[in-house]
Amino acid sequence: MQEVTQKKGAIRAGSLFGIPFFIDVSWFLILAFVTWSYGSALGAQHPEWGTLVPWLTGFVSALLLFASVLLHELGHSFAAIAQGIRVQSISLFLFGGVAQIERESRSPWGALVVALAGPLVSIALFGLFYGLEQALSLAGPAGAVVSLLAMVNLALAIFNMLPGLPLDGGNVLKALVWGVTGNQYKGIRFAGITGQGVGVLMMLGGLFVIGNFNGLWFAIIGWFVFSNARRYSEYARVQGRLSGLTAVQAAVRTEPAVPAHASLRSFADLYALGSSQVSFLVTDYDGRLVGRIDRGALLRQPTEIWAITPVSAVMQPVDASETVAADQPLDEVLTRLQEKRLPRIPVLQPSGLLVGQVRIEDIQRFFARKEPLRLAS
Ligand SMILES: [Zn+2]
Repeated sequence: MQEVTQKKGAIRAGSLFGIPFFIDVSWFLILAFVTWSYGSALGAQHPEWGTLVPWLTGFVSALLLFASVLLHELGHSFAAIAQGIRVQSISLFLFGGVAQIERESRSPWGALVVALAGPLVSIALFGLFYGLEQALSLAGPAGAVVSLLAMVNLALAIFNMLPGLPLDGGNVLKALVWGVTGNQYKGIRFAGITGQGVGVLMMLGGLFVIGNFNGLWFAIIGWFVFSNARRYSEYARVQGRLSGLTAVQAAVRTEPAVPAHASLRSFADLYALGSSQVSFLVTDYDGRLVGRIDRGALLRQPTEIWAITPVSAVMQPVDASETVAADQPLDEVLTRLQEKRLPRIPVLQPSGLLVGQVRIEDIQRFFARKEPLRLAS
């Protein structure tokens, strides 16, 4: 899987090739469960191993199982890194592993490579362990571990290739639909819908076909797939609608901009003191954005010089990455707001003229009430 999740309750376990590596507390439950279920099965199968060896074999198998998941996630990660995309973290949790990738590939073919890289690693590991099993005809605990690893890696590859988001097969499907239609969101929407189907089938299959504890577990994973797939569909619906609008259509001018040539005295009297606004945009004579000033700037200057100090002398520059162009599609604006964790972002004409600001709350309200975005005058 490659997906964005919260890292609540996760423990930082170090770094792998510069990628922060997290283990969720739920992972320890699975470690104990796999050790117990495999250990007790081996104990029943091989009474001659005594009591300790089956459990130890189960424990080593469980650790190697997680190493297999980790290598699968590293496969996705290296494919992303090769495209210049940063990998923010790799986490192991209840349902397996997740590589948190900073952004989508630029092209559907890039996304296809990232999606396929994980299952390809799993298939390669299956080949390796299956080959070892055949070539060495290992017996005893070592044989049991190798044959389990061959099976687990094959299962990982097959399960992950089920054709629905958030699984790798869903990402493959997304990339293909994206490639054919030229629209990324159509790809996500389509694979989100098939993902919901995959999730429902897993729940039904788990509860009514497999039955017992394994079936229940399968159904729980099905629920996880279903609810994530639904989130993807919703995300694609919102982003798809936003991509048809531009920043200038959503820009509002609710907050006054401060003229750069104004004195700190007038900034205080006319803007800062009568309002709860913390940060103000600063424009030049022609209305072009030249900087930003905080209320706090007043406190750092002695009151005696307020009247003779222009705002331009103490304002901060605004980084170009914290502004958007008037004709930029709104889906990109929303992504920028989220990436930079900004509540609002200035919208500029190519000349630098300040049109207004897009506020994240306006975009959210637009989708909550399905009301049209206020258009800039
Ligand atoms: Zn994967």
